[in-house]
Amino acid sequence: MNRIGTRGLILKEKLIFEHSDPGRKGYSLPALDVPPSTLPEELSRLEIEGFPEVSEVDVVRHFTRLSTWNYGVDTGFYPLGSCTMKYNPKVNEVVARLPGLAGCHPHTPERLSQGALGMMYDLQVALAELSGFDAVTLQPAAGAHGELAGMLMIRAWHEAQGSSRKKVLIPDTAHGTNPATAALCGYDVVPIASGDSGVLTAETVAAHMNEDVAALMITNPNTLGIYEADIRKICEIVHEGGGLVYCDGANFNAVMGIARPGDAGVDVMHFNLHKTFATPHGGGGPGSGPVGINKKLIPYLPKPVVVREGEKYRLDYDRLESIGRLRSFYGNFGIMLRAWAYILTMGGEGLKQVSEMAVLNANYIRARLEETYHLPYKNRSLHEAVFSDKNLGGGCHTLDLAKRLIDYGYHPPTVYFPLVVQGAIMIEPTETESMEVLDEFCDAMLAIAEEAENNPELLLEAPSVTALSRLDETAAARKPVLRYRAEA
Ligand SMILES: *Cc1c(COP(=O)(O)O)cnc(C)c1O
Repeated sequence: MNRIGTRGLILKEKLIFEHSDPGRKGYSLPALDVPPSTLPEELSRLEIEGFPEVSEVDVVRHFTRLSTWNYGVDTGFYPLGSCTMKYNPKVNEVVARLPGLAGCHPHTPERLSQGALGMMYDLQVALAELSGFDAVTLQPAAGAHGELAGMLMIRAWHEAQGSSRKKVLIPDTAHGTNPATAALCGYDVVPIASGDSGVLTAETVAAHMNEDVAALMITNPNTLGIYEADIRKICEIVHEGGGLVYCDGANFNAVMGIARPGDAGVDVMHFNLHKTFATPHGGGGPGSGPVGINKKLIPYLPKPVVVREGEKYRLDYDRLESIGRLRSFYGNFGIMLRAWAYILTMGGEGLKQVSEMAVLNANYIRARLEETYHLPYKNRSLHEAVFSDKNLGGGCHTLDLAKRLIDYGYHPPTVYFPLVVQGAIMIEPTETESMEVLDEFCDAMLAIAEEAENNPELLLEAPSVTALSRLDETAAARKPVLRYRAEA
């Protein structure tokens, strides 16, 4: 692939050291007409061998080209299942950057930050209304952090009842953070099988429920993209047995404005503002994982709690049974602003339409691909479709397909998750993609399936358009080589 010239995106950029040409300078200024001052010795670094000598335009081009290597939702379709990589309207960014909001110091006295507190209060109310809960905390900084908040509240509630239940039931279709959270809170995780249909049945829950079970943690819609239709009955069974129900609400994008988990009997649920509520995310950047709870857990909310008294807002620290503080100040305020702007611009009907479109798009992809790609669970899916690599020919596997998609210009979908599907390919298009984009993506998926049959090395050797092809992903994380040395 050593083509002459440059065509479009330059994915074979050399290292800055390799651009070096001794004697080149990164500036052009007139000769000095004053005596030069010498740099103090302790400030000059002499130990960098082969320090690159490049011109200004070399530097600018080098780093600008590198910047185009970041694949993002602003560059193209990003069907990463479970992550809800939807397009984030720029108006949210404008709002979050308004100087009065962006520059608002968290130590500003309450009487001078009524607008900020009011926004947080209104966001809590809106999320509670959308989900059917009695109260919402905005403190957690991510979904998994919200799970921690929720499970700590559940534990505090059990302790207040004098119960020392030890177990948490978790179906095999739950997100991996769920068992991690339960274990972090000191619980023993009891995995339960969802069975051939991919949904948890009330009977299965009943068979596992006993006086040692503190809670059930359920992801709904689950990681197969299927709605847990028995949820109401499941909640009744857990409650009758003296436990509480935690719902992982990261997939709320599929049911917003349509179903309210609080109404179904769920006790606690986290939201991912950085998924459902159109906040940019990825790379471990700032997020927000608010938690909705029903009445009985209100005393345990993390503090401070934003409260409204008449026309005024204040932060309530005086909460004896609180699980305490989870985050410096009040959580990621900038993310809350983006989510609030999104909710206001969409409106109630708009949010409902978001979910309807997300489900329609996922089912469109499913319908176009299900004759070619193996679909292990046939139940109607909601916002994502999970295929397997069972039908992929030429000895190719999920990883090869994912790498080949890069050659077609797509970010690969989520692969090898959920674990209940061997060689899983989890596609979540979200509502923000047009039919043309979905069709192009499906065409690429179908073309790759054909390549696997007839020309499998195209997959096995993919990606071919990138600077490097297959990386040793484990060594890259465990033994990163961060320093360049010229070859001797
Ligand atoms: C993303 C996700 C989480 C974790 O959320 P983070 O914000 O990444 O901590 C939990 N459950 C599900 C189903 C998710 O998709």
